[in-house]
Amino acid sequence: MKTNNLGYPRIGSNRELKKASELYWAGKISADELIDAGKEIRLKNWKLQAEAGVDLIPSNDFSFYDQVLDLTLAVGAIPTRYHELAKSNSSLDLYFAMARGAQKNGQDVVAMEMTKWFDTNYHYIVPEFTKNQKFALFSEKIINEFKEAKALGIVTKPVLIGPVSYLLLGKEKEEGFERIDLIDALLPVYFEILEKLQSENAEYIQLDEPFLALNLNDKERNTFTKVYNEINKRFPKIKIVLANYFDCFGENLTTALALPVDTFHLDLVRCPSQLDDILESGQLNPGTNLSLGVVDGRNIWKNDFTKSLELIQKATAVLGENRIFVAPSCSLIHSPCDLDLETNNETLTPEIKQWLAFAKQKINEIVVLKKFASKEVDIKLSAEYERNVVANNNRKTSKLIHNNEVKARVSNITASDDKRKSTFATRRTSQIDALNLPLFPTTTIGSFPQTAEVRSWRAKFKKGELTTQQYNDLIEKETEATIRFQEETGIDVLVHGEFERNDMVEYFGEQLAGFTFTKNGWVQSYGSRCVKPPVIYGDVSRPNPMTVKWSQYAQSLTPKWVKGMLTGPVTILQWSFVRNDQPRSETCTQIALAIRDEVVDLEKAGIKIIQIDEPAIREGLPLRKEEWATYLDWAVKAFRISASGVNDDTQIHTHMCYSEFNDIIQNIADMDADVITIECSRSQMELLDAFADFKYPNEIGPGVYDIHSPRVPSSEEMVQLLEKAAAVIPVDQLWVNPDCGLKTRHWDETKKALIEMVAAAQEMRAAVENIVSL
Ligand code: GLN
Ligand code: ZN
Repeated sequence: MKTNNLGYPRIGSNRELKKASELYWAGKISADELIDAGKEIRLKNWKLQAEAGVDLIPSNDFSFYDQVLDLTLAVGAIPTRYHELAKSNSSLDLYFAMARGAQKNGQDVVAMEMTKWFDTNYHYIVPEFTKNQKFALFSEKIINEFKEAKALGIVTKPVLIGPVSYLLLGKEKEEGFERIDLIDALLPVYFEILEKLQSENAEYIQLDEPFLALNLNDKERNTFTKVYNEINKRFPKIKIVLANYFDCFGENLTTALALPVDTFHLDLVRCPSQLDDILESGQLNPGTNLSLGVVDGRNIWKNDFTKSLELIQKATAVLGENRIFVAPSCSLIHSPCDLDLETNNETLTPEIKQWLAFAKQKINEIVVLKKFASKEVDIKLSAEYERNVVANNNRKTSKLIHNNEVKARVSNITASDDKRKSTFATRRTSQIDALNLPLFPTTTIGSFPQTAEVRSWRAKFKKGELTTQQYNDLIEKETEATIRFQEETGIDVLVHGEFERNDMVEYFGEQLAGFTFTKNGWVQSYGSRCVKPPVIYGDVSRPNPMTVKWSQYAQSLTPKWVKGMLTGPVTILQWSFVRNDQPRSETCTQIALAIRDEVVDLEKAGIKIIQIDEPAIREGLPLRKEEWATYLDWAVKAFRISASGVNDDTQIHTHMCYSEFNDIIQNIADMDADVITIECSRSQMELLDAFADFKYPNEIGPGVYDIHSPRVPSSEEMVQLLEKAAAVIPVDQLWVNPDCGLKTRHWDETKKALIEMVAAAQEMRAAVENIVSL
């Protein structure tokens, strides 16, 4: 039996890589210093795993930005716009230009596109392919890192994305071909890499093919067969570990099991049932090994040794110990680095901490699981096993987790709880009477600039350098100034500006029971950007109102409507580490009830318009289409529960951004928000087609300018976009607003842009009046 790790976090336990990369980009350290910082992280990671006793230690899991981009460079799929850079500059600058764009010395190239890595919050750089795409070995990073580890006496298992998944991850940049057909051009480069690794005496090579967990067509499936047979024919001595993760093999199982590889890696956290399927199928080639992904690579909970051992023993009973590897479910880049660094006993209490494991602890888990399963250590005599049982039992019964009131409330939800009192048509009449808004009402998405100053108040408040009173006074002043600014600009529906919020999920998590936070639980999101998701460990409830005070204060300053601003249940769930002892849908429903209470309290406090943001609703979609309906069902229901406690004349808004809406438009309509504001300007209102074709019944605010750019749009541009919108959506259904929140912008741009936006709305109103008077 062996232990097999699929990848280790490369950001460094203290985000060393982030710090070094950002210094390099700012011109403050040299390329050599950055390269050294990377090297140091790799050496630490390898040593840590070697000392822990991992048998198959990955290499090439390190990356200065993204592993897909690394491979793009390795196979030389460099888009034409970077060819000049490829000739003249250092390879590091070429690499970062592809990742982030480059604007210097008269050069101006845009970055490659970035998108989410399957259903994680990691983002990769999308390969760009053309019809006559050529591939040629361009970077030897894979081989160099193997040699680097070997020089330390560690023979690693190089990890690279498999050729089929690599092609499928990319995009066709011109018409007239399918990227999967590039396989014959691509394979020779893989052969060259394998050849070089073989001559350096690499024994195992891991090829990640997570597309095996997705719905594939016949051609894609056949390509797997062809590719792995060819690899096997040319390199019969190399042991290929074919890694699939994030879901079951599903209908690809038979194809997969016929592939001539040394080892299949299975994600038994996401799909425990596939172990039985494989063992019972009798289709596993004699001699092929199974790598059992029993330790969750994507969440932070301590492994349940008893459960994992059951799975491992089931496999050893059929295949024998020698054919079994013990592994995390996927690469550990989706886990924070090291629980030992969590030393703040107040936020992360010792009781909760004993339920957790980060990457370093997960490495230890696979090692001890192997020792237990191979009987190298007798579990009956092991204190570590005992501690694991105690911790897991404690978690099951802990008072911290279970709140019977919350459970009762969830089980008593009735069919009317997720429905507004009346249909949209009836609500609309009440809202028109109650709100008295003009045609093309203007609003914003919630946040106004979070300046360095505002952030410094929060930092000082946290350090105790500002009293609560002083901090609140500062936030009140900023809020008041923002209300005055919106009044002067002539915006119709105001917001308070969200200055009191650090982050749209953390702010709520900090006030909800059942949540806790880590000090250093960072996970890479993209490039140097890391996120620190809250931890939902127990039943969620809302001890006190969370936003009412601020909304009420803002509303007291003005006769105009101030919109209350909340984060929705699905987004809170999606951007947290979620407990794994009950279905996600259950946790989401608990959050929904907490948000519902807040919505009702806002209404009671005189807030007539309330926005519940759900930018992450699409991110939660399962990888396999056949599972979409179940997810959408509970996700939409959770939103509706949160929104349905109010009267007809209270207007509920939602906001979503940067996603495709076409294939879930029915579900968006089912959310039944009175108004939805969406991102639209970058696609020149193309996104709106989905809403128009569908005849979306409620009101819509298609974003009229891109808040990600400091550029100030003119009112003419916005009028043009609004005219496009008005051509497909009835004008009395349209709102006018930016794409998303303004927190990342500066005040001067924001002022100029909103003045233009209001002018655009006025022009549209005048145009409609003209038509009416004709
Ligand atoms: N209300 C939030 C804001 O304005 C919405 C942010 C988002 O969509 N991600 O910042
Ligand atoms: Zn947004």
